[in-house]
Amino acid sequence: MEKRELKNHMENLVDETLEEYLKNKTNICQCERCIMDIKAKALNKLPAHYVATDRGYIFGKIEKMRTQFNVDVLKAVIEAVDVVSKNLRHD
Ligand SMILES: [Zn+2]
Repeated sequence: MEKRELKNHMENLVDETLEEYLKNKTNICQCERCIMDIKAKALNKLPAHYVATDRGYIFGKIEKMRTQFNVDVLKAVIEAVDVVSKNLRHD
């Protein structure tokens, strides 16, 4: 039997959304530390969405979630970027 694990798919959505959002933002620090801060802040505002991983099945789930949470995810990401970029914890 294949090993399964639980994944919070909100993390994938935040990853994708953040990457897209920061593409053309050269005025925002995109070091690992800031990116992690941004992700943590965004994820804390969003509902966790756990699914048991199982190849194939999982992709349909992600697609469904994508449309369902798009606006909320983008909003949380923008807010998180704003907060982190105004409170840089390093030079
Ligand atoms: Zn930084």
